[in-house]
Amino acid sequence: MIIVMQHGASAAQIAAAVSRVEGLGYKASLIKGEERTIIGVVGDDRPIDRSQFETLDGVEKTMPVLKPFKLASRDMHPMDTHVNLNHAPVGGPRIAVMAGPCSVEGRSQIIEVAHMVKEAGAVALRGGAFKPRTSPYSFQGLGEEGLRYLAEAREATGLPIVTEAMSVEQIPVVCEYADVIQIGARNMQNYDLLRAAGKANKPVLLKRGMMSTIEELLMSAEYVLAGGNAQVMLCERGIRTFEKYTRNTTDINAIPVLKQMTHLPVVLDPSHGTGKWEYVAAVARAGIAAGADGLIIEVHQNPTEAMSDGAQSLKPEKFAALVRECQAVAAAVGRG
Ligand code: PEP
Ligand code: MN
Repeated sequence: MIIVMQHGASAAQIAAAVSRVEGLGYKASLIKGEERTIIGVVGDDRPIDRSQFETLDGVEKTMPVLKPFKLASRDMHPMDTHVNLNHAPVGGPRIAVMAGPCSVEGRSQIIEVAHMVKEAGAVALRGGAFKPRTSPYSFQGLGEEGLRYLAEAREATGLPIVTEAMSVEQIPVVCEYADVIQIGARNMQNYDLLRAAGKANKPVLLKRGMMSTIEELLMSAEYVLAGGNAQVMLCERGIRTFEKYTRNTTDINAIPVLKQMTHLPVVLDPSHGTGKWEYVAAVARAGIAAGADGLIIEVHQNPTEAMSDGAQSLKPEKFAALVRECQAVAAAVGRG
């Protein structure tokens, strides 16, 4: 449930309501809006009699949160959450573009492409050091060596780093080198990993599982939020359908649905969403038009030689063109 405080409720009245919540054994999540403060009651609050709060001074009303995801829901937190990527907030008026190769392949490769994507307008560098691959014989990523190269690329360009942690054990080393922990599609329902990310002090980019519903994505985000980490971005990266001309089917619907259901920023990955570089820009434009707060795009200097996902990787000049096209679409929908 949420407790909506009256406009102008005093700090003492808010504190009294919070202590009543905590006295019942629940956690109170305070959301201070411009108009009024909302107190979210976190946990299974079904046994609580809401009327006991309505008689407290300064309380306007209480409302049940009926959705199974509480902290992620807009009922609990009406204003958009901004996730801080250094100086570029994701979820605000400006669309954040994250870009880089699928995998870190070497020191000069990642530093060179980092400069290229920055030049084109990216605000963060992506690149996998721990790679979830379908085949155990495929390139598995450079591991910690790759993380070191990513950190060098940040040093050289100032771009914050987005990289995947595939297991609970990898979270500390990813946090040591990177700025954003990516949780991949295959791990969206790895609840131990979600709980560990909830305890980390870095933002999380949570990718939708390829066979997961929007509600399951929100429930996974709830694990991270319930662990105490409020900095979560959701990523639509395409789902499996019967269609064979593309690798996945980008669920454009998910963008407005998520924007309605949750305050968390929504990022689109048209690279994995299509699996073919020639469709990436069109779907990126569609994502911005549909209300996405950010894009994450695979870019490689020489896609035919890429060690993973070359078919969906853009050459740097194609990526620069995509950013220009997206600027026009962003302006058309009142974003920057
Ligand atoms: C990736 O970003 O390279 C990746 C492996 O993504 P996903 O988890 O969406 O397949
Ligand atoms: Mn990839």
